[in-house]
Amino acid sequence: MSRRIQILPEPVAQAIAAGEVVERPASVVKELMENALDAGACRISVELKAGGLQLIRVIDDGEGIDPEDVPVALHRYATSKIQNPEDLFAIQTLGFRGEALPSIAAVSQLTIKTRVPGSVSGTQLICEGGEVKRLTEAGCPAGTEVEVKNLFYNIPVKRKFVKSIPTELRHSLNHFLRLSLAHPSVSFQFAHEGRTLYAYPRTDAPGVRVEAILGKEIYRHLRPVEFEDGEIHLRGFVSLPSFSRGSGDGIYLYVNRRFIKDRVIYKAILEAYRHVLPGGRFPVVILFMSLPPSSIDVNVHPTKAEVKFKDSERIFRTVQGALTSALVSPDAPGERDDGLGERDHAASLNEVSPLASTEPFPFSFPGVGGDRETASVVREAVTTGWEREPPPPFRILGQVQATYILCEGAEGLILIDQHAAHERLLYERYKKDHETGSLPVESLLIPIPMELSAEEFLVLMSYREEVKSMGFEVDVIGERMAAIRTLPKLTEPFDPKGMLREFLEELSFVKREGKGREAIHPMLVSLACHSAIRANFVLRREEMEELVGALRPFHPSLTCPHGRPVFFVLSPEELARQFKRKG
Ligand code: ADP
Ligand code: MG
Repeated sequence: MSRRIQILPEPVAQAIAAGEVVERPASVVKELMENALDAGACRISVELKAGGLQLIRVIDDGEGIDPEDVPVALHRYATSKIQNPEDLFAIQTLGFRGEALPSIAAVSQLTIKTRVPGSVSGTQLICEGGEVKRLTEAGCPAGTEVEVKNLFYNIPVKRKFVKSIPTELRHSLNHFLRLSLAHPSVSFQFAHEGRTLYAYPRTDAPGVRVEAILGKEIYRHLRPVEFEDGEIHLRGFVSLPSFSRGSGDGIYLYVNRRFIKDRVIYKAILEAYRHVLPGGRFPVVILFMSLPPSSIDVNVHPTKAEVKFKDSERIFRTVQGALTSALVSPDAPGERDDGLGERDHAASLNEVSPLASTEPFPFSFPGVGGDRETASVVREAVTTGWEREPPPPFRILGQVQATYILCEGAEGLILIDQHAAHERLLYERYKKDHETGSLPVESLLIPIPMELSAEEFLVLMSYREEVKSMGFEVDVIGERMAAIRTLPKLTEPFDPKGMLREFLEELSFVKREGKGREAIHPMLVSLACHSAIRANFVLRREEMEELVGALRPFHPSLTCPHGRPVFFVLSPEELARQFKRKG
């Protein structure tokens, strides 16, 4: 009888273990960058091809590896960073498990070139699927270059789990950015398909790095925090109430310079902002905590993305306390200093519109409803033959089918299509903003890479300026590959890639070389369409008042930008006729 339990052959065991550490190209980028940082590098360069599936190359100018240590580094649990079990509780480096290099080597074709500064020659090691093929003396610059080709070439199953090139690239960029944020004194560079996407020169001021990564616009709304409580030390940057985001993506947490995800700290941050930001909005927070290594366990996760605190309650209190006092401190710069913050928009809206509630509306937008100047601009454009000024207000009777607003006015019974109406108002507003170059734009923390069809790519190349004028700043980062750097700032969440695709599709219909208005109009229409309140959306009374108030000056023949009517009017005469009353 054959034995049922068998020890797995070495290649299978290696592949299983590798799977824990190397999930996708981004894991390799992270591990190699961490090794470079642990080696004390001052400059780190990362190069990828095909999102890292074809090639990942990380070059550093760190301490290098001694020739006799090079093959050893590829053994599982081979590390220069700890020696004794108790060292596990005093970890100062990013790595310590000695798993990364062997795991990466097991699933790729790997080459290491390394030279210790001061020694005459270096070492080159070539490895395939975990097997050393060549180990030679080689001339190379001081430091280490690790090249990883054809990741998962020997594990086809794993390759199937890998997503598209843009998705994989985005994961790698995430790691690159997180590590760059935490190490301002190191200069970093990232290139894809030979194009440099980021280059951050070294700096002594952490704020300079934060600004370089997050952009001027976001940095303007940040203020530094610094806090000490015994051996817990916190420093970083937190956003003022004048700025918020629709997701928690802008929260970066580091413990002893290691990027981590941690529910306790996350909750503490949100708690500090609970009365500061409206529901569903999130701050930007970059928080570096330093703690004695003995008060945390970093060895709880194969990729070290989580840590365990000995006293998590204390961490919670410290973080919440530090942020709360940073946010309420009297020297907090005025939130209204520039008038651009989202809350400011809501506030100014409320000031001019006595009917508005104190909460920002889901569809509120600067100028819509409250901005008399816009109203008059729009009026000029679309009211012909509307003489009364100002017209008496409509009386709102209610919402019908969560889609129409029913009103009564001098004209009779009036039904308003809420989507068409809002879309029209937004269109006019965006058009005006576009003309004056003041369309609100939001810079992304991490650009969104996307793959385009050959046709889309060509359209983008001919209309890049026009697309940019609509808020989409797009970089070309490879053959048919683009990265979205900024987005139009809309009041409703939207799918950026979907909208850019829609723009490109619209633009492909524009007559060749048809620039200017011809190209802009369809994009304005889709921008308005995406941000307008939908049909089948229940509106609060105040929201209806707001919308109807903004529409009042317009002629009943007003249409939405697609040409559908906004109003349906049933005159008193028509009503009388229907009920067979004598007029
Ligand atoms: P760990 O980082 O957990 O120690 P790795 O498998 O990532 O394990 O690396 C194994 C060893 O190889 C490290 O401990 C270090 O001594 C050496 N090493 C790896 N990369 C570099 C590098 N870029 N520069 C210098 N030494 C390196
Ligand atoms: Mg390592």
